[in-house]
Amino acid sequence: MTERGSLIVLSGFSGVGKGTVLRLMMSRYDHYAYSVSATTRQPRTGEVDGRDYFFKSTEEFESMIERGELLEYARYVDHYYGTPRAYVRQQMESGRDVILEIEVQGALNIRRMVQDAILIYMLPPDAATLAGRLRGRGTETDDVIRGRLKAAAGEARHISDYDYVIVNDDAERCATRLNGLIEAQRLRTARNVAFIKEIQEGLEREARDN
Ligand code: 5GP
Repeated sequence: MTERGSLIVLSGFSGVGKGTVLRLMMSRYDHYAYSVSATTRQPRTGEVDGRDYFFKSTEEFESMIERGELLEYARYVDHYYGTPRAYVRQQMESGRDVILEIEVQGALNIRRMVQDAILIYMLPPDAATLAGRLRGRGTETDDVIRGRLKAAAGEARHISDYDYVIVNDDAERCATRLNGLIEAQRLRTARNVAFIKEIQEGLEREARDN
């Protein structure tokens, strides 16, 4: 029997390195499935439809909402972002741990709907490191960077609604830690009811027959 996979929500400030850590973790282990979101924002250079996002028009997105095709959705900086429900269900049923890389409102909606979802917030080692990483990208103006840092300060108020924080001091180490954290969830007694029952019954049989 395949145990159902976990639903893992990963959030973190822009620039903290979620993408790099997830790519590393998923290249090492094959029991993860990354949920590709739908969005109404424009693709950035290099982004591929169906790999980075499913790029939708507002009408298309709204009809996905009406048809109940989204597990959660949120508006973020004037655009819709949402998680297609069917893929998540399918992958969890086949035993994979499904990762949603989503923002805070979506994470809190998942918390309400899926009680055993695991909410993880990725943090930089310190605030100066985050500011440095944003500047180091060299792709954004000072104004945009200031805006990102302000948004980060606002988001930081919700961190305690998450189950775990994980520090990205080094992407390799962080990927190892993240996988360990998720693996540990699989060891919870509540996730192993069938196995525990099998052991109990086996022991009772052994005691009776010997
Ligand atoms: P970006 O436009 O930079 O790719 O994403 C903006 C924010 O939207 C990020 O915080 C990202 O994690 C979040 N996001 C991406 N997909 C989803 C989704 O399906 N649902 C929600 N609620 N947020 C998402």
